[in-house]
Amino acid sequence: MPYIIAEPCTDVKDKACVEACPVDCIYDAGSQLIINPEECIDCGACVDPCPVQAVYHEDELPDKWASFLDKAKDFNYDGLNPAERNG
Ligand code: SF4
Ligand code: SF4
Repeated sequence: MPYIIAEPCTDVKDKACVEACPVDCIYDAGSQLIINPEECIDCGACVDPCPVQAVYHEDELPDKWASFLDKAKDFNYDGLNPAERNG
């Protein structure tokens, strides 16, 4: 049960979640950051640092953002490097 990044990240992308993630499983998907559900270890460390409350456990993702779960699962991570940490 991975964590999911939802709508509020769109165009914010400050990468506070990337700084917090111990396994570098967060990628840049263009308009937003995205968590690879195959790599996420469900630690929750990325939730509190997010300034716009964009990160949710899969079980707590608001219904209106359900499409972001599908997007994370269907996204093609092949050949991509994880988002780089700030500085
Ligand atoms: S829950 Fe943990 S492993 Fe998953 S994306 Fe957040 S910080 Fe990374
Ligand atoms: S901390 Fe929140 S707003 Fe910033 S990049 Fe991560 S999910 Fe997006």
